[in-house]
Amino acid sequence: MAGRAKAADGQVIQYTTLKVRLYPTQDQAELFEKTFGCCRYIWNQMLSDQRRFYAETGAHFIPTPAKYKNSAPFLKEVDNQALIQEQNKLSQAFRLFFKDPENFRHPKFKRKKDDRDSFTACNHVFESGPTIYTTRDGIRMTKAGVVKAKFPRRAQAWWKLKRITVSKTRTGKYYCSILYECPVRRPEPVAPNAETTIGLKYSMGHFYVADNGEMADPPRWLRRSREKLVRIQQKLSRMEPGSKNYEEAVQKYRLLHEHIANQRRDFLHKESSRIANDWNAVCMRDDALAEMSKGPSRKDAASSGYRMFREMLRYKLERQSKPLIILDRYAPTARTCSACGLAQDSVDYKVKTWTCPKCGITHNREANAAKNIKAQGLVQFGKSA
Ligand SMILES: [Zn+2]
Repeated sequence: MAGRAKAADGQVIQYTTLKVRLYPTQDQAELFEKTFGCCRYIWNQMLSDQRRFYAETGAHFIPTPAKYKNSAPFLKEVDNQALIQEQNKLSQAFRLFFKDPENFRHPKFKRKKDDRDSFTACNHVFESGPTIYTTRDGIRMTKAGVVKAKFPRRAQAWWKLKRITVSKTRTGKYYCSILYECPVRRPEPVAPNAETTIGLKYSMGHFYVADNGEMADPPRWLRRSREKLVRIQQKLSRMEPGSKNYEEAVQKYRLLHEHIANQRRDFLHKESSRIANDWNAVCMRDDALAEMSKGPSRKDAASSGYRMFREMLRYKLERQSKPLIILDRYAPTARTCSACGLAQDSVDYKVKTWTCPKCGITHNREANAAKNIKAQGLVQFGKSA
């Protein structure tokens, strides 16, 4: 996640999230469960009151969590911050809904069976110190105390801890996303040119193909895990729902699913970091991946993570004041010869290579498209600059 807020002159505020695995004690895990439940409860209470007020008076109003504490004393057992955050989340959901009802749904009641277990708490810094902070091997939270945690990397000393979100996966693992505010010196904008710019073409088979012919083949283990997932899926479809074997297979399926999601995120982070560090500008095309995946190829393009990859590239480049140049999805990149510019009516999407009838150069189909994406991207950037 990345964003900008007000900062001192010459500085920009960036936000960084560290996701750490938590190892709560049994008491702490019980407190988390209670907090998840209280957050759902307070959300539903506030929403139900909002609906009633709205129906009776036509005015939009959300009560504060304090209103419910006498009739539901169990709310006092959990972090009040988490309850306040539910009020903020509900207010925000209504703001979006009122502003743009076509794209944002009316906030819904939360049910345990289809809601993610999570709560959020903001850090408050008092004279006596902050309410939330990290220790060598844990995170100190308001009610839970120090919860054991494993840090994949550590925050820099000058980062400010803003808030945490504790969540539980369906396989019973606890995680904490820690949001930091990181002031950084505003980098000098970098002007792209042909030597320092890379063009990327989305590829079903290779994830992407670059204009210089480089590809990012997803590692073999990722493919192998996916094949395993399909096998469990098929097995599940033949089993009796509710039986013990079925439940075991479901749990196995969830674990593998989670594992693949982690593997994929690692792969996307590594690829996007490498590109954002090696190049001054990246050109891509705004492909409609969801539509492509409905096409004749059965591979799920949308789930291949290309969109996530693009968002990672966007913020990793932005941090270095480098541009991500996105071409319109209808830009004729596939059927144009990158050598002589001849635009043909169409190019066969099943072939690997084709030869230009005008200049006679044989192109790798995907690398040729990547070359055009880069060239057209640089033109587009020149016009906008
Ligand atoms: Zn040509």
